[in-house]
Amino acid sequence: MNFDLNKLVRQNIRDLKPYSSARSEYSGTANVFLDANENSYGSPLTKWYNRYPDPLQWELKKKIAAIKNVPAENMLLGNGSDECIDLLIRAFCEPQKDNLIICPPTYGMYEVYGNINNVEVREVPLLPGFQLNLEAIEAAIDENTKLIFICSPNNPTGNSMEREDIEIVLNNFEGIVVIDEAYINYSRRRSFVAELKEYPNLVVMQTFSKAWGLAALRLGINFASDEIVSILNKIKPPYNINQATQELALKALDNLEDVNTMIRDTVKEREELVKELVQLPMVQKVYPSDANFVLAKMDQATQVYNYLKEKGIIVRNRSNVVLCEDCLRITVGTPEQHKQLLKTLKEYKTI
Ligand SMILES: *Cc1c(COP(=O)(O)O)cnc(C)c1O
Repeated sequence: MNFDLNKLVRQNIRDLKPYSSARSEYSGTANVFLDANENSYGSPLTKWYNRYPDPLQWELKKKIAAIKNVPAENMLLGNGSDECIDLLIRAFCEPQKDNLIICPPTYGMYEVYGNINNVEVREVPLLPGFQLNLEAIEAAIDENTKLIFICSPNNPTGNSMEREDIEIVLNNFEGIVVIDEAYINYSRRRSFVAELKEYPNLVVMQTFSKAWGLAALRLGINFASDEIVSILNKIKPPYNINQATQELALKALDNLEDVNTMIRDTVKEREELVKELVQLPMVQKVYPSDANFVLAKMDQATQVYNYLKEKGIIVRNRSNVVLCEDCLRITVGTPEQHKQLLKTLKEYKTI
């Protein structure tokens, strides 16, 4: 394979002189900071919040590095995966010229950010078994294809993509392969973060929003080569991860054991939920899941969805999504929430 990162980056990004913030121009020790027009008198909260946060979040990255076994230099932190996706598209896809590939049914934000950036989004649907259609992906690639988004475990289907299929894409595509591992902690599969050295075209995306239980903090990670990370650093907003998020995430990372307990509980309850769901008369099938949700195919999916909504139980109606006809996506809840859901579903009367 002939991978040339320099050729992939948009010309204007390659030529860009990035904004140089006051805090990034100075490094060392000092005790009088009069360089950033902060409020020298403090803040109504605590004394730290008057200062701009670390633009590159080194303390936080080092802590993540120790847990993930990936050097801090190989990380870009984003304001949620949302920002991680947007930065990739803006770095590599020239509007109205380049294109990216997604494999629906999949996470909606890749397409939305493609559209926002006026970049063509090529859809290569998954095969009926929800695996990658390698021949169709190959056929969709042209010289302007810069990114392929692979979500594994996939939202909303819940399954993981075959590792060999992903490797074939990584080995043959001369653009960048983004593997979205938002749900990896609920899966038995190995993360691709261990393969960063192997594949110069690999970006692995993870998030604090799911297994870490910190959706409100807005913190996502792109793991990638030094070269890709420095391109993304060049274009990110200087202070994209706020101080409160950095502090709270640092604190959360001290509680790895609690997080692992939540992951085990979630996986256990997922299997309980599947067992119960398949016994319901309206449920045709529950797809195997490596995530913290299940996709259930059922009779009258939209009616069931509306019925649950009336009863104050909200699930995700995916019945108008390709390959997910008649399907509801149900997030794994607590045993108490499952009891309520199942009791309500048992009382459903077909009309
Ligand atoms: C939930 C989810 C995310 C997380 O997005 P954030 O912006 O980090 O909250 C990313 N990818 C997929 C596929 C998801 O389902």
